[in-house]
Amino acid sequence: MRLCTLLIILLSALMAFAQPSPANDTTMPDLARFSPDQVDKSLDPCNDFYQYACSKWIKANPIPPDQAGWGTFNKLAIWNIAAIHNTLEQAAQPSSARSAADQKAGDHYASCMDEAAIDKAGLAPLKHDLERITALKDKSQLPELVADLQQIVRPANLNFIDAQYQGVIFGIFNGPDFDDARMNIGVLDQSGMNMPSREFYLNDDEKSKEIRQKYRTHVAAMLVLSGESRQQAEADAAAVLSMETALAKAAMDIVVRRDPKNLNHKLNAKDLQALTPSFNWPRYFAAMHTSVAPQYLVTAPDFFRGVEKLVASEPVDHWRAYLRYTLLHLSASSLSQPFVEESFDFYGRTLSGAKEIQPRWRRCSIFADTDLGDAVGQAYVARYFPPASKEKMLQLVKSVKGALGREIDAADWMSPETKKKAHIKLAAQVDKIAYPDHWQDYSSIEIKRDDYLGNVQRASRFEIERRIGEIGKPVDRYRWGMTPPTVNAYEDPQTNTINFPAGILQPPFFDPNLPDAANYGAIGAVIGHEIIHGYDDQGRKFDAAGNLKDWWTASDSTAYEQRDACISDEYTQDVPEAGVKQNGKLSLGEDTADNGGVHIALAGLEDSLKSQGKDLDSPAADGMTELQTFFLSYANVWCGELRPEAARTAVLTQGHSLNRYRINNVVSNMSEFNHAFSCKPGQPMVRANACRVW
Ligand SMILES: [Zn+2]
Repeated sequence: MRLCTLLIILLSALMAFAQPSPANDTTMPDLARFSPDQVDKSLDPCNDFYQYACSKWIKANPIPPDQAGWGTFNKLAIWNIAAIHNTLEQAAQPSSARSAADQKAGDHYASCMDEAAIDKAGLAPLKHDLERITALKDKSQLPELVADLQQIVRPANLNFIDAQYQGVIFGIFNGPDFDDARMNIGVLDQSGMNMPSREFYLNDDEKSKEIRQKYRTHVAAMLVLSGESRQQAEADAAAVLSMETALAKAAMDIVVRRDPKNLNHKLNAKDLQALTPSFNWPRYFAAMHTSVAPQYLVTAPDFFRGVEKLVASEPVDHWRAYLRYTLLHLSASSLSQPFVEESFDFYGRTLSGAKEIQPRWRRCSIFADTDLGDAVGQAYVARYFPPASKEKMLQLVKSVKGALGREIDAADWMSPETKKKAHIKLAAQVDKIAYPDHWQDYSSIEIKRDDYLGNVQRASRFEIERRIGEIGKPVDRYRWGMTPPTVNAYEDPQTNTINFPAGILQPPFFDPNLPDAANYGAIGAVIGHEIIHGYDDQGRKFDAAGNLKDWWTASDSTAYEQRDACISDEYTQDVPEAGVKQNGKLSLGEDTADNGGVHIALAGLEDSLKSQGKDLDSPAADGMTELQTFFLSYANVWCGELRPEAARTAVLTQGHSLNRYRINNVVSNMSEFNHAFSCKPGQPMVRANACRVW
């Protein structure tokens, strides 16, 4: 449930993710391999390392019109989508030799690609569900209706930050109990806002007002497409915005949510009912096909008090409008072209700045992966993931973990007893590489070649039922929260695992043909980043078993917080082109993981070089030292930029700093970087008050 990830993933990414090649070119694109040639030698690395390492690449690789941003990692994401596409094209060929998994994935993809049939059907596939909403005559019927709708829309990714917005009113899923991580508890979380974060509803600046105006226009346009009169749609859009704004006001602030203690509210069934007297929970759970559990984790009780107010006070026609728009929005990608285009216009163009939608084959490949990740992943891994990469990764993880062990031993600000517990936690951290040991069985989901929306709804229902079915059952530490082709990685403090999907184990992150220094600078820093998440301001609050339990002495905690405050101050800065300020308290966990991750990756490299009779100053390829290669390879994976609209959305909703800070702030905190490029005090990349936690 609480996944600390590596990369910025925008909610609108599905709408805006593409590459510049012609729409029908489905051959495998190039990967952005690390090359020292991309350095602009006319620039001074000590002045702005991001510009030194990336400006040539950025100039040569402008953001394509159908992209929210563009960087070396996007090239890998596109490569992976092309890889998925190739496997799906093959799986979509009807044949008696197809495996059961290929039939599901291939026919899902084929049904999505049948655009003519989808356009011809128009709104018909959603008719029954819309009629359910129209039939809402009394708010006492809400529990059954909300449960029905929640089961047919794609459940949010279990990414902690994203999960709280996408959904019908509130989110329900399973997750490890904060106090007993061995057991799954039912989680009721804030959700139901159809813009990316509560700030979009509450901020008072001109840009926010403009976006709200555009949102209202978009909601009305969707409702007109669904058959409402213009006048009715405009009135309904106002009601939708007003109800979502009330949800935003009741919702917990994104920075407050970062402290797990603030989420750990366990309520028994009686107290849950008392929280929202107007919403009958036993009937809701019955409609969800589950029994009432002894207790629930209600992450944000104030949010549910807000829901209660809306149930009690909003007229039933406002509820119908809100549910109608939410269903249309969350189903738009499965509907006919006018819905797809209207949805892209707001979530793609307005919120991410993309100019064009990506080609359909790419969207359909992503959706097949989203809905049937293990079926798609199985075929993808067999074709595109070299088994030798797993061995190499295991070595790298071991090396970087060893470096953190030495870092803990050397930390002069930690007491022996806290160090001992930190070691126990590190030894218990499980690393999962590439893909799951056991694939999910999808045989009970019916996938038809001529019913795309039905396929999406049945796959969504399967996933929701799976999650709810795990409530009250033991936690499976070996289940994955990302699909194998995903270009990302995550740490989960409650299962005490670090997870690296096969999708990221390719250039520019991982390249077995490159020397150690390049791999340690790229995937090594990613490994370090995920390991450190277990020891960032959130992760350190969980013990080796994944329980929310303080294992720090009071004085060690104080020393830690002082060090972390240096980082949050450093990363709080204006992002001029986006017209917003980056909040170092929001990105603190990610920034701590970036800084510590690079430190321990570098220590891992040093160790590896030692065993080869070399050191960091040893000459490497292309006239560089090992140390210089390491830093350039680190910068290389973060070369790229976002459009201003996407940067604004990312800063307001994401825990990740923008790429240029992920490069410059990290290196300017490191004396090893100053040494590598002979930077002098007073130069911008030499920070007088360098921050260091790990
Ligand atoms: Zn992270």
